[in-house]
Amino acid sequence: MSVPPSADPAGRAGWLRRQIERYDHAYYVLDAPLVADADYDALFAELRDIEAAHPELRVAGSPTQRVGGRPLPEFAPVRHAVPMLSIQTETDTTPAGAIAFDARVRNRLELGEDDPPVSYNAELKFDGLAINLRYEDGLLVQAATRGDGETGEDVTQNVRTIRSVPLRLQAQHPPAVLEVRGEVLMKRADFERYNERQRAHGLPTLVNPRNGAAGSIRQLDPAIAAQRPLAFYAYGCGEITGWSDMPDSHHGLLDALAGFGLPVASQRVHGPGPQVLVDFHARILDQRDRLPFDIDGVVYKVDSLQLQARLGFRNREPVWAVAHKYPAQERSTRVLAIDVQVGRTGKLTPVAKLEPVFVGGVTVTNATLHNEDEVRRKDVRVGDTVVVRRAGDVIPEVVGIVPDARPVDVGPPFDMVRLLHGKCPVCGSAIVREEDEADWRCTGGLFCPAQRKQAVLHYASRRAMDIEGLGEKLVDQLVDGGIVRLIPDLYRLGLLKLAALDRMAEKSASNLLAALEASKSTTLARFVYALGIRHVGEATAKDLARHFGGLDALMDATVGQLEEVNDVGPVVAQSIRTFFDQAHNREVVEQLRACGVHWDESAAAGMAPRPLAGKTFVLTGTLPHLARDAAKDRIEALGGKVAGSVSKKTDYVVAGAEPGSKLAKAQELGVAIIGEAELLQLLAR
Ligand code: NAD
Repeated sequence: MSVPPSADPAGRAGWLRRQIERYDHAYYVLDAPLVADADYDALFAELRDIEAAHPELRVAGSPTQRVGGRPLPEFAPVRHAVPMLSIQTETDTTPAGAIAFDARVRNRLELGEDDPPVSYNAELKFDGLAINLRYEDGLLVQAATRGDGETGEDVTQNVRTIRSVPLRLQAQHPPAVLEVRGEVLMKRADFERYNERQRAHGLPTLVNPRNGAAGSIRQLDPAIAAQRPLAFYAYGCGEITGWSDMPDSHHGLLDALAGFGLPVASQRVHGPGPQVLVDFHARILDQRDRLPFDIDGVVYKVDSLQLQARLGFRNREPVWAVAHKYPAQERSTRVLAIDVQVGRTGKLTPVAKLEPVFVGGVTVTNATLHNEDEVRRKDVRVGDTVVVRRAGDVIPEVVGIVPDARPVDVGPPFDMVRLLHGKCPVCGSAIVREEDEADWRCTGGLFCPAQRKQAVLHYASRRAMDIEGLGEKLVDQLVDGGIVRLIPDLYRLGLLKLAALDRMAEKSASNLLAALEASKSTTLARFVYALGIRHVGEATAKDLARHFGGLDALMDATVGQLEEVNDVGPVVAQSIRTFFDQAHNREVVEQLRACGVHWDESAAAGMAPRPLAGKTFVLTGTLPHLARDAAKDRIEALGGKVAGSVSKKTDYVVAGAEPGSKLAKAQELGVAIIGEAELLQLLAR
């Protein structure tokens, strides 16, 4: 933020007002904030302090004297029957903030030490968009935003698309008029999913769930709102008429709203005295990361509606309520560098190295920038001040830059290839970005240390080399301990080394060695699949093995030759070509062959007999000796097909112990039913 023009109180207050008005417009009208809330709050608090110390500076139009929003002219205006106000924020951020609130309330009510405690209600402070739902005779007739507190925007059509908002109250005798106030929000998982999808398609992402919710509600096409996953939680009421058994407490009101079928969050308590509030504050802070949505604090309210009426309002805030905030989940800080991290699957992620900042309850020094397009769209550069978000257990991310704070000597726009000279920063293999893909990737899958664990686990998996006993914990130990650097190292493991590992007895070590030995005798299809080439799944590996017959022919095939294979298009063909073009990857393959990994190359297409060609099998139940995968492999090796369900086209149903409904279906359709012995006879032909 630039330096204010004047340091005298009047000048400073004027500068603060102008700055806050600009930020208010961006935040409330455009739903596109320019700074983090914490920075905004600091400016706001400073202005409030100056005005408190110099009452003559408190002008009527000051942002401290009114509710922030402003209705957009595109929406029909809605005059609120009861104003929608803001909430005072408790300045004492320690748990004792609740005690301070209680002291103020008692003081206002002129209660002495001997008077009984005041009863309070505590609930979540949802971080979304305030909405007023107006029900007349139980029917939803209007939904409006807060706007400037007096006049909001008619957003009925958009709010109707929120599934959890009842269109009709569940009540025999609903109040004649019931205005329900609550917050529209986007749950974190929905927000993440939405952004993931946008990112994958190279489309703009939502800044945070709050802006996602506000932007969805305050736009003109209800079809767009309908596509955004929004939720609603009620926390109070506006106008009420004709409610015969209206409760007399805030908690009673919330219970009644829940009874009408409105969503009311279960996290709330009520009881006498401030300790209830202190405990709630601590408990919710502990749960905050696990809640499905963002909250920025908790709200304390005097429970009795009668006392609320006595306490009334001041400026733009009720005296009977206070917000007690938690550490901000968005803060601004400076980008010191942009690095690129290589993930387990070879995905390259740009990461901002930050001046340490306390956000969402922890100190953050790294934040993800997701992918190249996103860095460019947000135009994040080294030297920029950025807003960092950390909410829930999601990794911290850069939300956007603070344009006002860009220094003149800011770094150049981000360019992955230029930054990395086209090479993986970990292993030096070529990096690629496929058409229609948002991510750059390292192509040294078998060789790249960043991808080691993933590569070993995939190699050992059941459908690949099927090495029993080589699970995640063991792979962690082998790789972290430097015992396995490359996959061929697996075949160089000795009993002593294995048995010395954590949770490894001699028996399990020798079992693992036996499984490793057994895995050396495999099929070409399994081996090709085990290499973990991008886009080469099990089915493609089988097609490749069948088509080329031998590994050398496959490794040397041109993109054109690869495309001749069933179901192999240009992307897959290029991915296979790039993989085998990496000298590192070929070296690993050679080492594996040298270790004794082998397969029968005569089973290639055209060469091997295919006596089961054209026959379709369905497997059901447990066979006495053959594992289901093995049976499938052997049927397919002889040209047969294994299908998942029985139809008239099925030739054989192979039934083992405890067969499923497939057996009954086969009987119904008159399909031949055979057992393992007959299957083995067919396979032996
Ligand atoms: P507020 O959001 O802090 O508090 C009032 C609002 O709290 C109500 O309108 C209601 O919608 C909501 N609320 C959530 N849970 C509630 C509950 N259980 N009971 C009652 N109300 C509940 O105040 P405000 O005046 O609406 O907005 C100020 C906020 O907006 C601050 O957090 C500020 O940082 C942010 N802001 C940020 C920028 C920016 O540029 N980043 C600009 C303007 C405002």
